[in-house]
Amino acid sequence: MIIGHIINGQRTINDGTLLPLTDPATGKKHADIVMAGETEAQAAIAAAAAAWPAWQQTTPIKRAALLTRYASLIREHMDELASIISAQHGKTIDDAKGSIQRGLDVVDYAIGIPNLLTTDYSAQVATDIQAYSLRQAVGIVVGITPFNFPAMVPLWMFPLAIMCGNPFILKPSERDPLAAVRLAELFHEAGFPKGLLQVLQGDKWLVERLITDPAVAAVSAVGSTAVAKSIYQLASSHGKRVQTFGGAKNHAVVLADADMDYTADAIIGAAFGSAGQRCMAIAVVVTVGQKATDALLPRLIKAAKEIRIGEGTDPKTQMGPLVNQQAKERVLHYLTLAEKEGSTLHVDGRQSPVPHTGCFIAPSIVSVKSTASPIWHDEIFGPVLCHIQVADMDAALALIHEHAYGNGSAIFTEHGGMAQQFAAAVSTGMVGINVPVPVPPSYHSFGGWKQSMFGDLDMHGPEGLQFYTRRKTVTSRWKLPEALHNSFTMPTHL
Ligand code: NAD
Repeated sequence: MIIGHIINGQRTINDGTLLPLTDPATGKKHADIVMAGETEAQAAIAAAAAAWPAWQQTTPIKRAALLTRYASLIREHMDELASIISAQHGKTIDDAKGSIQRGLDVVDYAIGIPNLLTTDYSAQVATDIQAYSLRQAVGIVVGITPFNFPAMVPLWMFPLAIMCGNPFILKPSERDPLAAVRLAELFHEAGFPKGLLQVLQGDKWLVERLITDPAVAAVSAVGSTAVAKSIYQLASSHGKRVQTFGGAKNHAVVLADADMDYTADAIIGAAFGSAGQRCMAIAVVVTVGQKATDALLPRLIKAAKEIRIGEGTDPKTQMGPLVNQQAKERVLHYLTLAEKEGSTLHVDGRQSPVPHTGCFIAPSIVSVKSTASPIWHDEIFGPVLCHIQVADMDAALALIHEHAYGNGSAIFTEHGGMAQQFAAAVSTGMVGINVPVPVPPSYHSFGGWKQSMFGDLDMHGPEGLQFYTRRKTVTSRWKLPEALHNSFTMPTHL
């Protein structure tokens, strides 16, 4: 099978470079992906530009009716989409379904578009003069998405962008592109016009080609920080509206009064679910005081050793493989480094048995010797949970503050005042209180701080709506004054 593009509603395969795709669990090649070239980029942009005028004129209620049908189709194809994700990414079927559901939540939110586009109106801003605002589409939007959520992150972007009146060109990850293609096919099955949603396969060349095209108005991208930063810089230097979301290293702070059974269970799932390949994974656990460490660490160690590792398609599996060999090598590199620098490997993923095929590596738990260590600084993006003990909550807050990333954080405690203080002071964009993966619901917005996000407006929810529209304010007068006089003074509202 060759996985190609969806251009102007058609599956398209060109004779570009082919990249092989292998199943991360078996190591077996299952498809090739073909890279788009100049012809495909031009064709997609032309189709988007052609689709835009009529779509802008389509009433929000008609747009919502189409999206309602699309939501049903995604629900009907949930099993198929989850199998595609599991086969290309490696995550378990249930995890894949959970991620599709989180994408669907944004689809459901976007169905409310007639209401969401409601704006304000002020009567009598001056005598017989009214003012009101419009939220209008921005134009062609390009979305660039990462491998770790091949359906969810695209669904966090294009349904809302399109409901706001924009055509959308999606450039999914070249590691697991099939889910995006199926989402686009279902989109057309729902009855949407051609050219509104297109999928192009490619890498750096295609991203740069699309985001610098004069016809493109806005860019939304998710990926590692280096890529997010470079896309942000390039797109903004070309005058595009742009938001990009980067890497993460999320800390969970555990106070001694936390319910330790619940906390250990929550942290294990958040650290090792999807083999740690989530931008909201818990990557560092910070225990406050020796008592918290003594209560939590043994529970984490025991639970990590009991995790069932296997193919994502096996219902008994809790943790699947990493996405590819490179990702596994990266984890091995950090574990070797941790050992060399004298950090304590309570659980060493290199030692535990895993299936011999594919890119499996078992969970690790490492008490980090010093915060100077790359194992604390860098995003590993694998099943490695770092541990650090600090003396008090201020020290925990300082640790998070010092860190370059600021996506999410969590606190585990039964003390409401401490939790409130933590939520107010912590320098991350999303905070959980006894909630390990605080991904906001679709009607709130998602975004990190510091090196985890570049731009001003978060994804989905009210800020997503702002990102995909531009405000226009109209001042009108229908009852004209009886006496005319030239006025050379600045008009006031008095
Ligand atoms: P990646 O940076 O390798 O790739 C992301 C996307 O950018 C892909 O579509 C890829 O083809 C494209 N790309 C790669 N190199 C590029 C370049 N030099 N110029 C332009 N485009 C380029 O990321 P990944 O490995 O696919 O995904 C994992 C990363 O994404 C992790 O760092 C993770 O934390 C991050 N992520 C962040 C969020 C968030 O919301 N902050 C969500 C999911 C994933």
